[in-house]
Amino acid sequence: MPNKNGPRLQLGNYPTPVFELSNMLKLNEMQKSDEAHQRLWIKRDDYSGLELSGNKTRKLEFALAEAQMQGATVVITAGAIQSNHCRQTATACRWLGLKPHLLLFGESGKGKGGNFLIDETLGAEITYVHPKDYPNYLEMMEHLKEQYQAQGIKAYCIPIGASYGIGNFGYIEGYREILEWQLSVGVALDSIVVAVGSGGTYAGLWLGHYLYSQQTEQAATRIVGISISSPSSVFKDKILAILTETAQYQEALRAILPDFNAEAMLKEAKTGIEIIDGFQGAGYAIPDPAAVERSQWLAENTGIILDSVYTGKAFNGLMHLLQTDQLGKDVLFVHTGGLFGFFGHQEG
Ligand SMILES: *Cc1c(COP(=O)(O)O)cnc(C)c1O
Repeated sequence: MPNKNGPRLQLGNYPTPVFELSNMLKLNEMQKSDEAHQRLWIKRDDYSGLELSGNKTRKLEFALAEAQMQGATVVITAGAIQSNHCRQTATACRWLGLKPHLLLFGESGKGKGGNFLIDETLGAEITYVHPKDYPNYLEMMEHLKEQYQAQGIKAYCIPIGASYGIGNFGYIEGYREILEWQLSVGVALDSIVVAVGSGGTYAGLWLGHYLYSQQTEQAATRIVGISISSPSSVFKDKILAILTETAQYQEALRAILPDFNAEAMLKEAKTGIEIIDGFQGAGYAIPDPAAVERSQWLAENTGIILDSVYTGKAFNGLMHLLQTDQLGKDVLFVHTGGLFGFFGHQEG
């Protein structure tokens, strides 16, 4: 059981830094001086580590703690050939002396660089599966786990993106870190914006906000997710499912909010989850021209690189909402990583 202080492994470099972008992006140049100025901040969760760069590292601090507590020596997870999550899991496993076994959708990633090159260098065990088998991937992981079991080896399965009950504690903690930053610099964020790929980062931030906002006035912040693939209704259901799983860790949640009640939380989640459509382009991992253009603009004005699968689409959505005045005055974008995917070949 995790609680406020653990068991949690320390894998990433936290707290990650936050920088203000408003001046570099000349956000307020067109506004009259008496209007409230917009401020945009970026939290560099891509600075969680080098090999461990990205948002899955926070989730893995709790997921792999559970794996170790269960006595597992092999960790099985799944993702695309250029999965950031698989690369972060494989890296963390090697750091902890566990064997990573990856289920990758597609054909061999040899020669494709990026995340796959790191998986290969780490000597991760790889099983390739046809992308059409994606709906059955949980059973396929269970099957691999049974095969290990038959050899007397204990394996632990992590769903795609570590977006499940225990993994969610990563971004509950991530939210707490953001709250601490707000208190230390005297900023009251109106919105926190993040990419939504498998829903776990959003679910954790939303639940973190839910738990902590009942205890501090500073925390009245909207958590806004930008879908990078599926329609928002699909993600809302997915996020509710993750929150339902997390609600089972009652003891850990009550360590944060003593009168935590799962039903009350889920009731609020049903109306409170905010996922924005319209910025996913043609679908998962298909670059969207508007997002690519926006990423180029950010790079030229700040030196910050976004990836085309996740952060580019999310940032494009954020800028659209910011410019149409839909996010309030103080806005934080969580940079969730993806640089190795940027270096890797996505297709072919
Ligand atoms: C996985 C990932 C996301 C999406 O996070 P989820 O928790 O899966 O919704 C966003 N950005 C990057 C770089 C990722 O690797």
